[in-house]
Amino acid sequence: MTRRLTLALPSKGRLREPSWTLLEASGVDPQEPGERVLQSHCRNAAIDLLFVRADDVPEYVQDGIVDCGITGLDLVEERQCEVDVLLRLGFGKCSLQAAVSLEDDATELGDLHGRRIATSHPRIAAAALGERGVQADIVRVGGAVEISPRLGLADAIIDLVSTGSTLRTNGLRSIGTLFESEAVLVGRAGSEDVIGRRVLTTVLGSVTNARANRYLLFNVLREQLAEVTAILPTKGSPTVMDLATPGTVAVHALVPAADIWSLLPELEARGASSILTLPVERMLP
Ligand code: AMP
Repeated sequence: MTRRLTLALPSKGRLREPSWTLLEASGVDPQEPGERVLQSHCRNAAIDLLFVRADDVPEYVQDGIVDCGITGLDLVEERQCEVDVLLRLGFGKCSLQAAVSLEDDATELGDLHGRRIATSHPRIAAAALGERGVQADIVRVGGAVEISPRLGLADAIIDLVSTGSTLRTNGLRSIGTLFESEAVLVGRAGSEDVIGRRVLTTVLGSVTNARANRYLLFNVLREQLAEVTAILPTKGSPTVMDLATPGTVAVHALVPAADIWSLLPELEARGASSILTLPVERMLP
């Protein structure tokens, strides 16, 4: 009988929805679990799903309860779990930042020496501050870290920040970043040979790669071709095809989605026309 791969997914919180969407986009056809049911399966692949808190995923994977899991890199680091990080998933991006109240004098991490800091990431905080020779009194709090200074519980906080709006709302100001995080696929340490693990990594990777790129098409006069292709931020060589109109070519290239914003006006300024960008569904390098 084929051994089925078990995958732990966040059952709630910020990583739940994007993890599910990624799995759906991968084509394995995950089945929604029934209400208050913690297990499900995929229709198109030999994968069983277990829904647990993102915080618990590193331990579940480390202890072999499941083969793989999706969680935050900060949680893997904080729990100090022995797992292999198989893939960065490109969502759940945030950074662990130190912040003080607006009226505080501190301007950099070094200014936290000897001060009291509230965080739900005490291990990462202690390690990152220790590396910089900063000795601080770290208080572990489970949640609502950002109100700690106002409650008089701490002088500063170390907390996850994505947009910075929670800091602003609570009258706090960032004085430095200690760790960058995003959602990751993790597997049990040293279990590369688990059936299906490499396939899952490749398939999810093809989706995350694809999401980070756009397929770009445009037409240009052949005499403009060198100038236009010189500014394409593409890794490979673009495809160039003759059009029916003599002296005109169509160019196709894969470009990072993040560059599209600045690239399109640059192409237009160099004579490109009929510029199209299309989403990519899968991409294997
Ligand atoms: P949860 O507590 O279940 O909502 O999941 C929290 C996880 O989401 C964190 O451990 C991070 O990996 C990730 N995350 C992404 N952005 C943020 C943010 N702004 N605040 C807290 N967690 C975030």
